[in-house]
This record gives sequence, structure tokens and C-alpha cells, in this order.
Amino acid sequence: MPADHVLILGGTGDARRLAEHLHAAGVLITSSFAGVTGSPRLPPGRVRHGGFGGAEALAAWLVAEAVTLVVDATHPFAATMSAHAVAACTAAGVPRLAVVRRPWQPQPGDRWITVADAAEAAARLPGLGRHALLTLGVKDLHAFTCSGAVRLTARLVTPPDPPPPDIALIVARGPFPVEAERALIQERGIDVIVSKDSGGPRTGKLDAAQQLGLPVVLLRRPPPPPPPAVDSAETAVAWVLERLRGSQIP
Ligand code: NAP
Repeated sequence: MPADHVLILGGTGDARRLAEHLHAAGVLITSSFAGVTGSPRLPPGRVRHGGFGGAEALAAWLVAEAVTLVVDATHPFAATMSAHAVAACTAAGVPRLAVVRRPWQPQPGDRWITVADAAEAAARLPGLGRHALLTLGVKDLHAFTCSGAVRLTARLVTPPDPPPPDIALIVARGPFPVEAERALIQERGIDVIVSKDSGGPRTGKLDAAQQLGLPVVLLRRPPPPPPPAVDSAETAVAWVLERLRGSQIP
């Protein structure tokens, strides 16, 4: 009987940890990256880069590569890829598991303003501060134009080409500890932060904003993919291994 082959739709820390655990357990895995980040931290096992070409093409890829299980461990805002995974797995008859981090929960002292999208965040900024730190993806920056009222600084993993006009750039890869975030905020005179509600463990920027009393504009998540779903890489490992043992493989 051929070995099981797990496709991990990645681009997140959860996906990388999942790949590390499953590879260590002897499972054949392929981690898939969209190819948007110049130098992603590569996990062990097979790796592929770039889009599949839509849901139908992904379904064909699953059949051609004899994939027996798909784990969608993409970012909570990667809604298109998640929808394609649902459609492709249904078409190809391949089981799918989604890893969906829990949304962040506000704590006392947090000043969070929840908005629908980047456009609403941009519209709210003039009433909230004078220098915003945008911790968003490059696709979201077009919503922000420097009006003169609010200075804009964006932090990105990969520098956009061409660089956006009127937005100062910080090219850096997290995680960013709270002390470093406090120093960045204070050195640059940042007084409002914009972030996606990426979820999972609380990050340094949230704690730094809380300590300094700064508002955080949070972009609401798109609807999550349908079940089955787990909320961490670790629970996904257990789910996958149990499933593979159930099929007597590996
Ligand atoms: P998206 O809008 O949901 O997907 C756009 C297209 O990119 C998909 O239709 C697919 O192309 C391709 N794609 C996305 N993820 C892929 C993957 N893991 N492997 C192969 N192709 C992929 O995605 P996005 O929001 O641009 O995110 C792109 C990647 O960055 C994802 O892997 C995601 O996990 C990661 N990421 C996203 C965010 C975020 O805020 N959105 C944050 C951190 C990391 P085809 O239709 O051609 O297959």
C-alpha cells in the first residue's frame, strides 16, 4: 500500500511546527507556500512554492501527487486559499483539516477598535493618533494614503517593489518581544497600531500598546473555514497521527 502523503498549506508558524512534528514522526509531507515571501523559513520535508492555479488545479494536484490528507494551516486572513482547499478536497475526495488560531481576547487596559477592513482602519486613523504603525501585509497598504494628518510606518517581512509612496518601511521578521516593541514605539513616536486579528498567543505589540495606553485598530477576520478544525499545530499533529493510524499508515 502506498505511504500516506500529507499536504500542508502553510505560510505560518503553525504550519512550520506541524511539518516539523509530522516529519519527525516519519510522515511524508509536502509544505506549500504561496511564494509571496522572498525567503520563508523552510520546514523539513518536501516544499513547493507558488499558487496551484485555482481550486480545480489544486484538486488535480492532490490526485496526481496521491495526497491522502490536507491540512490547511494558512493564516486566518488567507480566505481564498482556504476556500480553494475546501472545494478541491471535496472534488478529489481527500479529507481536510483546518488549523484556525483563536482570535485574541482583550485584557484590562487594552484599547482595541475593531474594524471591518483596511479601508475602515485608514478612515479611523485621523481620530486616533498622529503616527500609525501598520503591521499588515503588502496587499493591505494601498488602503492607506498619507493625508498629512497621520504619518504612516509599515512593518513588513518582504519589502514591496515598488515601495508605497509616503509610507516609511521597516523590513523585519518577528517574533517581536514586548521590550523591543516598546522601544520602537517610543523611538519613532508611534501612537496608534493597526493589525489584523491574527490570533494565537498574544504578541509583544499588543502588550506594548496596553502598557503605553495606545489604541490598536484590529481588522476583523473573514469567516473561518468549515470544520473539522483545531486551534493549534499541536492539536493538529494529534489529529493527523490518529487519522493516519486509523488507516494503518504509517
Ligand atoms: P489568499 O488571498 O487566501 O490566496 C491567494 C492565492 O495565493 C490563492 O488563491 C493561491 O493561489 C495562493 N496561495 C495562498 N496560500 C498558498 C499556499 N500556502 N500554497 C500555495 N498557494 C497559496 O492568501 P494570502 O492572504 O495572500 O496569503 C498568502 C500566504 O501568506 C498564505 O500561505 C498565508 O498563510 C500567508 N500569510 C498570510 C497572511 C495574511 O494576512 N493574509 C499573514 C501571514 C501569512 P492559486 O489560486 O493559484 O492556488
